[in-house]
Amino acid sequence: MNLLKSDVRKRNMRKFPQAAALARKPRYKTGFYANLAPQCFMKVFWLVIILFAAPGAGSGHAVADQPHEIEVALTVDDLPGMGALPAGQTRLGIARDMIRILRTMHIPAYGFANGVQLETDPAQASVLKEWANAGFPIGNHTFSHLFLDQVQESTYAADIARMDRVLSSMDLTGDSLGIRRVFRYPYLSEGNTIAKRNAVRKYLFDNGYRIAEVTVDYHDWAWNDAYTRCLARGDRAGLDQVTKRAADSALWHLKQSVQLSRELFGRDIRHILLLHMGAFEAAEMGANISRYQAAGVRFIALSRAMADPIYAVNPDYAYPGKDMTFLHQIAAARKLAMQPRLRRRSSGYAADGQPMRR
Ligand SMILES: [Zn+2]
Repeated sequence: MNLLKSDVRKRNMRKFPQAAALARKPRYKTGFYANLAPQCFMKVFWLVIILFAAPGAGSGHAVADQPHEIEVALTVDDLPGMGALPAGQTRLGIARDMIRILRTMHIPAYGFANGVQLETDPAQASVLKEWANAGFPIGNHTFSHLFLDQVQESTYAADIARMDRVLSSMDLTGDSLGIRRVFRYPYLSEGNTIAKRNAVRKYLFDNGYRIAEVTVDYHDWAWNDAYTRCLARGDRAGLDQVTKRAADSALWHLKQSVQLSRELFGRDIRHILLLHMGAFEAAEMGANISRYQAAGVRFIALSRAMADPIYAVNPDYAYPGKDMTFLHQIAAARKLAMQPRLRRRSSGYAADGQPMRR
């Protein structure tokens, strides 16, 4: 049985009941949300509304006005897989599709894995093995995909160590073993207090980790449930909507990140793009890569991106919640005016009340 992130969340809530009480969100089967039309199209509509909540969304996606190519490292979180699983598909099949496209298009990619799924379904270890054997490294994304706001720093550190034991025990390629101590925070949550943030960073640095920040995040994972529902219904119009809106969102967020990096640093930085290992991402991977390339993106290795000196900057900024990229954290630390607008999209819930899994 596949253990989805929602299951992990439920398990974590059982483990940490106080945090669960704080994290409780309105359920979609009651109140306003119960009156929403159940059709696929409507769910896509509301998803679009929330993902494009920022002013200016949808206007001018092309990054063609950039004078230089934009260097972007592609990273894939949540190996061996996340989100809804369409009928007839497997986690390994999705991973193989993604690997094939990345290799065919000669795109370097870096994966970040959790181990909790392997506990209930050891066969999913084959995803990690095939990813590594294809020449793509694997970093640590915590064992249980923990949300740092909800746990103590000691629990978090122990979970990182547990994932490291999983990776070190696997028969991965030499390169992957050599550079596995690269860390990606689940939910991009780096700590809701400065003390907790600093404690985790100290653990990471004391143990030889480097932090793989994110500068481009279009919430790709949020489209998986809608994609799967439309697929199950054979809803061609719904699928077209999901695909088009996700594509628009991808380019819009790239453009925003490019503009924000110029505002913060006065230049084009080497960006780091966050994607996830889901069915929708695999289905769209080839088109997504081509679209980025047409917009001026040149894909680079994560190691090259992380050599950009901006990643030595410590925003020294704590925030409760999720989904603030490295650039947004720096902007917030500098108290740029955009902060309130950026925070609006961090609830993790679509407007139809459906929890957005990842
Ligand atoms: Zn994740």
